[in-house]
Amino acid sequence: MSAALSVDSWKDQARSLSYRNQCFVGNRFVSAASGKTFTCVNPATGAPLTQVSAGDKEDVDRAVKAARAAFEKGVWSRIAGSERKKVLLRFADLMEKHATELALLETLDMGKPIGDSSTIDVPLSIQCIRWYAEAIDKIYDEIAPTPPNAISLIRREPLGVVGAVIPWNFPLLMGSWKIGPALATGNCMVVKPAEQSPLSMLRLAELAAEAGVPEGVFNVIPGYGETAGQALGRHMDVDAITFTGSTEVGKYFLKYAGESNMKQVSLECGGKTPNIIMADAPDLDAAAEAAAWGIFFNQGEVCNAGSRLIVEESVKDAVLEKIQKVAQILQPGDPLDPKTKMGAMVDETQMNRVLGYIEAGAKEGAKLAFGGKRVRAESGGYYIEPTLFDGVKNSMKIAQEEIFGPVLSTITFKDQDEAVKIGNDTIYGLAAAVWTKDINKAFKTSQALRAGVVWVNCFDNGHISSPFGGFKQSGFGRDKSLHAMEKYTQLKATWINIS
Ligand code: NDP
Repeated sequence: MSAALSVDSWKDQARSLSYRNQCFVGNRFVSAASGKTFTCVNPATGAPLTQVSAGDKEDVDRAVKAARAAFEKGVWSRIAGSERKKVLLRFADLMEKHATELALLETLDMGKPIGDSSTIDVPLSIQCIRWYAEAIDKIYDEIAPTPPNAISLIRREPLGVVGAVIPWNFPLLMGSWKIGPALATGNCMVVKPAEQSPLSMLRLAELAAEAGVPEGVFNVIPGYGETAGQALGRHMDVDAITFTGSTEVGKYFLKYAGESNMKQVSLECGGKTPNIIMADAPDLDAAAEAAAWGIFFNQGEVCNAGSRLIVEESVKDAVLEKIQKVAQILQPGDPLDPKTKMGAMVDETQMNRVLGYIEAGAKEGAKLAFGGKRVRAESGGYYIEPTLFDGVKNSMKIAQEEIFGPVLSTITFKDQDEAVKIGNDTIYGLAAAVWTKDINKAFKTSQALRAGVVWVNCFDNGHISSPFGGFKQSGFGRDKSLHAMEKYTQLKATWINIS
């Protein structure tokens, strides 16, 4: 795969794509029991791509039964770890072989630039599956330091049937962060992709089957959250829900679990990341450039987007000037053009939601420094230009609520304590960043910020080996790293009497 393909070449390939658009249960595509479908729309043009089966309670039940049967048979959960590893490595190889197709599906379905899906989303998803495959046969269980009359084996066992509910902003990557560790640890899965972007996940399931993942181990039910998502959350035979999405819907899953079978729930929810730039940042230009990318990348539809720029008063003007320069090269364009750096918002609803926040910011008295409008409306797609507010107070709606769009709110501070206070004054705690060359300030600030990830002198850096997840109402449980495997396994202590 190459992002170096021309726009015409990507468009040619897009025209010849065929879509998997039914539920995937027991390694077969089947229509929804109701026969109902919903329209999958290309956000770049507003034109329909295909009709997708609208899975509901009955379909979820069918998928859970298939997953449970596979789990009980032990065709996946009880085979040697080295065998599961072989299959998952084949799966990653097949993803690589079909990388162009997967990148196209991602771009057509949710509007992100093909340059991003082909060089970020797809390669990182492949890396994730490979990394967990490789980990399978390298993890040891434990023996407790008991008295000499006994041996206590402390083992991690798979949970059983895991339901995964996925958002639309990184459908493949967020999916892979769940599928990798859940399958590696021997679970069977039912995945519910977001209704806006189910296409790549359906193709992924087919590739998993081709790689040798046995029938019933990996099922996908496309459909609406209120129907298919809720049915999965309330199912009495699902052992765990792993969710990425909004805080509002995350709370529903806690309620569903409490009102059904007390299934385990792990939640990766929203964020309102403070990006704190101090006057003594090692390189102000680099900090400003990272701040621009940190909010405008993926159209701002990123849970850890640096949506609050918390900048020391004395350097604010210099930082904003540089951000504006970067924003000029990030103007939205055709997602299939490899030169495009910012694509379309995922759908009309999301576009209007973001425009509503922009209006609210202006009404509350923040100063619109640049951007703020819908652009490329003639394409039929849903594009918003990079937008920056100056003079924002942290109490304003645009500083408190997750916008999930290319809108940056600038707040100034006078000293380190004030920066931390503003940074932490939010219900969220997913990520934070601090820029300073003073090692004491860097360490103290990063310790004081209540967030699952804190970047020092960089923004949005990471690796599959490092955990990701939130404090406070950004959720709990971690994706990525070996720690993710903890949430798909439960500890069993086997006490053997040897007296
Ligand atoms: P939503 O919370 O709206 O949806 C997430 C998933 O939940 C979708 O599959 C959705 O289905 C489903 N869902 C929606 N309503 C219900 C319901 N009542 N019951 C059960 N399931 C439901 O989030 P978005 O898809 O809009 O994604 C954006 C959000 O995700 C942002 O808030 C963002 O911060 C967060 N996010 C967090 C990340 C993290 O790692 N912390 C990473 C990426 C995103 P459907 O859409 O089909 O209705």
